[in-house]
Amino acid sequence: MPDLQNVIELIYHDIIKHKNYGEVASYIPELAAVDSEKLGVCLTTVDGQVFHVGDWQDRFSIQSIVKVLLLSLAYNKLGGQLWQRVGVEPSGTAFNSLGTLENDEGIPRNPFSNAGAIVISDILIDLYEDPRQAMIDMIRSVSGDPSIYFDTKVAASEKAEGFRNVALANFIKSLGNINNGVDDVLNLYFDCCSIAVNCEQLAKVFLFFANNGQTPDMNNVLLNPSQTKRMNAIMLTCGFYDEAGDFAYKVGLPGKSGVGGGIVAVLPKHFSIAVWSPRLNEKGNSYRGLKFLEKFTTETKLSIF
Ligand code: GLU
Repeated sequence: MPDLQNVIELIYHDIIKHKNYGEVASYIPELAAVDSEKLGVCLTTVDGQVFHVGDWQDRFSIQSIVKVLLLSLAYNKLGGQLWQRVGVEPSGTAFNSLGTLENDEGIPRNPFSNAGAIVISDILIDLYEDPRQAMIDMIRSVSGDPSIYFDTKVAASEKAEGFRNVALANFIKSLGNINNGVDDVLNLYFDCCSIAVNCEQLAKVFLFFANNGQTPDMNNVLLNPSQTKRMNAIMLTCGFYDEAGDFAYKVGLPGKSGVGGGIVAVLPKHFSIAVWSPRLNEKGNSYRGLKFLEKFTTETKLSIF
């Protein structure tokens, strides 16, 4: 294993020089208020080592990264039955696309598009008495950090402006793939997207994907090994909107991005790594986050390929 602390510091000092590339997400007004030049990194290993650099302690909005955790909660309870409601094919379209829903009879192509995550939120309302609480309990318990919280300002900001998601949810409901009230489904989805995490918390939350579905302390069993393999496969093929192929090609790790500027990626059996930098490229992925991870896997040769 290379000296990971040294490697991430060297790459950090290189990537921090990339200034003014990309734009901070502004369609959720509260996200536009963050300092766009931030860059933080944290890598956690399944054998308990933690490496970090830059703004790794700053909290940011988890946004779409939570879709992986929503899916895990549903998959854990429902198993393979879930795939009757949502597919596992890359969409090749933007995160908020209304895409092929009509042709596909309201079945979203995959669970990491907004359409897919909205259907998963509906499923969670049927599966859990209090799915919002179940989500935050899971995140706190897996990370071992009870301080993780819903950022109610970010949630309110998205609820006030989330017209596209309102359209998506109504469209899917009209096609018969949402059981509950559209407002209840969207409130759950927006609240979960608003969860505030720092890089260390995020890397720790995702470590179970590198450890066969269990936290390394064995206190939490979220998924079985076969389910974990499948979740990692969906992250690899669908985790970066219409840039998923490029991410697999350049980085070579399963992962997920969010419009808050976070990216988390996993090397099964070894580690999880979270990178945060708010400026996004034209596909909605963190510009520096992507560059950082590309350099990291290229220099260390730590990828799944
Ligand atoms: N809450 C965001 C939305 O639904 C998440 C998008 C993202 O991070 O890609 O628009």
